[in-house]
Formats: sequence, C-alpha cells, structure tokens
Amino acid sequence: MFDAVPRAPALHAFQPVVEFDADLIARLSRNGPRYTSYPTADRFTESFGYRDFLHAVADLRTRGAGKPLSLYLHIPFCDTVCYYCACNKIVTKNRAKAATYLAYLKREVEMQGRLFAGMNDIEQLHFGGGTPTYLSDAQMKDLMTHLRRCFHFAPDAVGEYSIEIDPRTVSIGRVHSLRRQGFNRISLGVQDFDPDVQEAVNRIQPEAETRAIIQAARDAGFRSVSIDLIYGLPKQTVATMRATLDKVVAASPDRIAVYHYAHMPHLFKPQRRINEADMPDSDTKLRMLQLCIERLTAAGYVYIGMDHFAKPGDDLAVAQMQGRLHRNFQGYSTHADTDLVSCGVSAISAVGATYSQNVKTLDAYYDALDRNELPVARGIRLSMDDLLRRSVIQKLMCQFELSIAAIEQAFPIAFHTYFERELAQLAELERDGLIEVDPDWITVTLKGRLLIRNACMVFDRYLAQRTGATHSKTV
Ligand code: SF4
Repeated sequence: MFDAVPRAPALHAFQPVVEFDADLIARLSRNGPRYTSYPTADRFTESFGYRDFLHAVADLRTRGAGKPLSLYLHIPFCDTVCYYCACNKIVTKNRAKAATYLAYLKREVEMQGRLFAGMNDIEQLHFGGGTPTYLSDAQMKDLMTHLRRCFHFAPDAVGEYSIEIDPRTVSIGRVHSLRRQGFNRISLGVQDFDPDVQEAVNRIQPEAETRAIIQAARDAGFRSVSIDLIYGLPKQTVATMRATLDKVVAASPDRIAVYHYAHMPHLFKPQRRINEADMPDSDTKLRMLQLCIERLTAAGYVYIGMDHFAKPGDDLAVAQMQGRLHRNFQGYSTHADTDLVSCGVSAISAVGATYSQNVKTLDAYYDALDRNELPVARGIRLSMDDLLRRSVIQKLMCQFELSIAAIEQAFPIAFHTYFERELAQLAELERDGLIEVDPDWITVTLKGRLLIRNACMVFDRYLAQRTGATHSKTV
C-alpha cells in the first residue's frame, strides 16, 4: 500500500536473510515490546468500554467497510501448567468449566455476529489459548457450527483457518476431525524435544507422539504446519538445542517460531517454579540463537522477522516478498489490514482505529454477557499520531524497510520534520550498523534484523513513560 517509490524488493531467496552478530546483540539487546499492536496493550485504559466498541463498529458501517474480517477465539483452559508460561490461562482438570465457558462464548459470538451483520465475511480465523483443544471434539464441532451460523466464512481455498494445538491433548483421529471441522492451518507447541528440558518445565511430550501428530496433519490435508520452539529454558544447552533442531528440520514444518524465554517470575507465577540454577547463561543463549539461525537458514528456511522462519514457498514468505505481510496479535499474518474481532476472556479486538480488550476473569465475563453486554473492559482509540507510528512500526517489522515518501502520501506530515527527534536516535543505530537511512528510505541491515525491535522502539512515543520491566529482552 505504501510502495509509492519504485524499488527492487529485497530478494530473500538470493541472499542471506539475517546476519548474526554476537557482539552487537550482546551490547544492544534490551527490554522491549513485541509490537503485536501499537500502542501496546499497557496503554489501554478503562475509560474505553463497551459503548466505545459499539461506536467503532458503527463507524466501520458508516464508512461502508467491505473488507473481510479476522476472527479470534480464546480458549483459556489448560490441563497442567508449563512452568515457562506467560499466557492468560486457567489450569483445571474440571471439564465442566469448559462446558459453561463454551455456552457463554457462543453468546458472545452470536452478539458479535449480529453487530457485524452485513459485513461479517471471515477470511481468517484463529483459535488460541490456553489450549484450544481442551475443548472436546464434540464441543469444537458445536462451536464451529455456531460460528458458521453467525458469520460467513470464505471457502477453504481462500480462508486461513488456524488452531494452536498441544500435541499432548490430541489423537491422530482428532487431527483429522479438526481438518473436517474447517481448520486448514495447525500450529504445534513443541518448545524442546529433550526429555530433561521437558521435565524441568513440566511439559512431558514424547517426540514420537509429536511426530505422529505432524504426520497426521499432513495426511489430513492441513495446508500449513507450524512448530513453536523456545530457547533459554532450564537444562537447555547448545547440544540439546542442536539435537532438537535436527529433529525439527527432519519433521519439515512449513513455519517455525523460535521464541526467547523471558524469565519474569515477578509477573508470571508459574515461572517461580523454574530452578534458576538450571537456566543457561546469556552467552549460551546467544550461541543457541546463532545455532537456530544457522541451522534453519541452512535447511532453506527464510527469516521472516521477530522469531519466525518459513519455507520460501510458504504464504508468509511470499507475502513478505510482495510487501503484503502484516502483524497482529497472533504474530505475522498474510491478511493485511483486516479488522479483528476477538471473542473470549481477555481477547483483544482491533476494529477501525481502536483496540479493545475483554475482561480477564470468567466471573466478569459471564456477568457482562448475562447483562447482554459485550464484555469489553478496556481499550484505546488511536490518534492520528498513533496510526502514523503504527504504520511505521508495521513496515519496519514486516518489510525491514520504510519508504518515507509513502508515509508522507498516507499521512499529512513532512517526515523529516515530524520525526526529527527519532531520526537523530536512528543515527545512533546507523552508527552501530543496524539500519541505513537515506533521504527516501529507512532500511534495516541484515545484522539489524535480529534487533528489529530496537529500531521500532525509537518510534514508540509511549516507551519513555514505561519502566521497561514489563517487556522481554529483544533477543
Ligand atoms: S504454555 Fe500453553 S499449554 Fe502450557 S500452561 Fe501456558 S497456555 Fe497452557
């Protein structure tokens, strides 16, 4: 949308897509947001509520928005707790809780379906958690049928319908069933194949089981299989990481996410159960990251950015090459600029120039729906400055480059004047070799890509007001 000045795209297939510079990373990596939204969720306030969300939808209707929507469903339950977890989840073995939740979730879906009537085409669906497959096969079938009653879904060949699964909770038959229910992308939490690491984080998941689930996903006809890994976990070493990577590459998923474990026990209670003496030191973590990048790029994966790798033919890599890549609460996405409607406890929607988040407890969620109100607890209406900075951050995150002329065409500003302070800060990053700035373009260098958050943070107007303690290290 912003490619006003013609320029040959960075052809990732013909050059290394990222360069690892240990000194630079050790020196410059600092706490920072992951920018799945801008402003980040800590800027949401309770002065934004249910009625503001209704206004945002009404604005959309007035503008005659004809774009398809993205839909997110949050299933918060987990059977057991993984010690590294920083998600919003409810750990319980009482399945009756899921039945009650499902009944209320269906009410919220129905209300949203009515609210968006006439503009409720869906091209993207994502189930996250918690553990979406905590719902039984019958419950999931019921929910998918209900979703189809309330929204209009694009055909399977067009839509991107994904679900996060915990391989410990699904059988081969269940994977086939999920495909029949309409899912065409699947994402598996693996984290690490090493049994000692799995024990140290309370997530025992035999390798053979995981591989059988990946095979079942292929047999069932899922268009894309994605695997999540984490580096920096207790008991992990460069050797265990190498063994895990070999197994992952052999399994040949279409996408791989390699997340840095952010140890913040003051914020996330389960992390207090991690034995800090077992954790790898910073130097080992850096070597693990280097290994991940070298091993995955050698195996032919493209570095998409922010922890994500994909096969060159995968939609994410193709979208990046074509300048269509987008970033939202689920990470990178090929469906640029769709409004996101999210249902479930703590779920975040992005409609028009607003973000809104649902209440975080089950009781508050049920109470709001009993009052026939959507359970919006807080949010934010974006100012022109927010929208501008969001565009800049999106472009840097997704394309590693920014056309200044394109931003000036889209927003009523003179870039060099408006961002005078930011350009001065970028000059420091340029001296460090992270970016290149010329009068028309800001380009992230190959060795700056792993530190992409540093460049984005320069454009974050709110960052100076934060302590930094609520965000993880950039690498
Ligand atoms: S990591 Fe996932 S499966 Fe584990 S406790 Fe957290 S949400 Fe549940």
